[in-house]
Amino acid sequence: IIEMTDVRKTYATGALEVAALRGVSLRIAQGEYVAVAGPSGSGKSTLMHIIGCLDVPTSGEYVLAGGDVTTLPEAHLADIRNRRIGFVFQQFNLLPSLSACRNVELPLAYAGVTPSERRRRAVEALTRVGLADRLAHRPGELSGGQQQRVAVARALVTDPALILADEPTGNLDSAASADVLALFDELHAVGRTIVLITHEVDVARRAQRSVLIRDGRLAA
Ligand code: ATP
Ligand code: MG
Repeated sequence: IIEMTDVRKTYATGALEVAALRGVSLRIAQGEYVAVAGPSGSGKSTLMHIIGCLDVPTSGEYVLAGGDVTTLPEAHLADIRNRRIGFVFQQFNLLPSLSACRNVELPLAYAGVTPSERRRRAVEALTRVGLADRLAHRPGELSGGQQQRVAVARALVTDPALILADEPTGNLDSAASADVLALFDELHAVGRTIVLITHEVDVARRAQRSVLIRDGRLAA
């Protein structure tokens, strides 16, 4: 599903250029569960942003689900992000003023799904992550682990082929981490492709395969 060849990403901030990715080639097959590990600043989040079409490479080739995405206009990339990819972030990234249910409905609203169908699918996704009894709670009324489960429900609700998680357990205690990782195991078991970024060795071990990134390059 992911075919990346010699991808480079250079950020320019004022006069300073930072080479965040220095020639990354990566193949991930449909249905694989892959962890990306590496030290702080090694380029993990940059790689995730490119895999998730949140950003484009400075050079190199990136083919996602058979289509070359490096040359697509932003509107088309936004459509891919919305319909084909589910994102989970370390900081949850929920909207604080919306209920759990409305947060999970958001990607469906962008995709033009009707309100009643949105609601039905959001309730189904929240039930799946064990939060059927927290639909009307706002993020501030939920524990960190529950907030992250809302974020996982939001990532699932569009039924995406690819789930990208950047340090999803980074702000969770060990019990809440275990819950979220168990959800990823279930998603993998039903055939989703998962790319999980982490710097925790125990978390990386949960995946089928891990790749290590160091100074913008993949190591063994
Ligand atoms: P961490 O484990 O701390 O999250 P990371 O592996 O995710 O680190 P990245 O966020 O990918 O690392 O950053 C890689 C390098 O690129 C860093 O040196 C960082 O300062 C730089 N960088 C990242 N994002 C930007 C940006 N938007 N503009 C400029 N430089 C950036
Ligand atoms: Mg990061």
